[in-house]
Parts: sequence; C-alpha cells; structure tokens
Amino acid sequence: MSQVPIAPDIFTWPADKPQLIGTQCEACGAITFPKQSSCPRCGRTEMRERLLPSRGTLVTWTTQEFLPKEPYASGETEQTFKPFGVGLVQLGDEIRVEARLTESDPSKLRFGMEMELVVIPFRREADGTEVVTFAFAPCS
Ligand SMILES: [Zn+2]
Repeated sequence: MSQVPIAPDIFTWPADKPQLIGTQCEACGAITFPKQSSCPRCGRTEMRERLLPSRGTLVTWTTQEFLPKEPYASGETEQTFKPFGVGLVQLGDEIRVEARLTESDPSKLRFGMEMELVVIPFRREADGTEVVTFAFAPCS
C-alpha cells in the first residue's frame, strides 16, 4: 500500500517519529508553521527549515462537529462525516500549532495534557493510495 502526505513539506514522512516542518528566521529567531519564505515578525527572507518538537502540551481544544468546507477533502460526505477534535498545542517554548486531535471527546482532554504528533489516514484515492495527515494524540 502506498502512502502520500496530504501536502509536501508539512511533516517528515515516512518517519518513526514524525515532526512538523517549520521555518525559523535567521534575523530575529521567529518560528513559523507551516513553512514561510519571509518572516511574519520582521519581514526578512532569511528563513531556514526547522523541525519542530514532536511533543507538546494541549492549550485549547474543541470538536469539529460538521464537515469542513473545501479545501478540506477527506472524501467524506455530510452523512459519513465523523466529528474530530481540533486543538492548539504548545510545542516546547517555540510555537503553538493548531491541529487535528485523535481524541474527539472533549471530556477526555484536559489543559496541559501531553500530546504527541502522529500521522493518521485521511482519505483513500481511487487507485488505493492512502493519503495521510498529521494529528496530535494524548501520550499514553
Ligand atoms: Zn524575523
């Protein structure tokens, strides 16, 4: 079975311990995710690729209860859509990233919970290729 990431340059894959791919500004140190070619803080263009920590802590979360609009393209319909969690995860001291969560029940999540980056199936193409995306899962 072949797997492809949902977009290039979002996370390292294949990988035993996937990491999100961000950029860091050489001039002021600001970190972005996803990658950017110019710094949102100082406007310079000396950005270098930086792999972000694969673990972080949960800051806020909610549940996506309805099928998101395009460009969300999971192949699901209003009928087959399964709600999923969405959260803001603090990665080290570096950056907060909004991401899908593997847990969709808000009562099973708590502030400061340790979360780990995982890669999960997103949709299946007609030729059998599995498209994968990233999410954060509570550390067990
Ligand atoms: Zn900068």
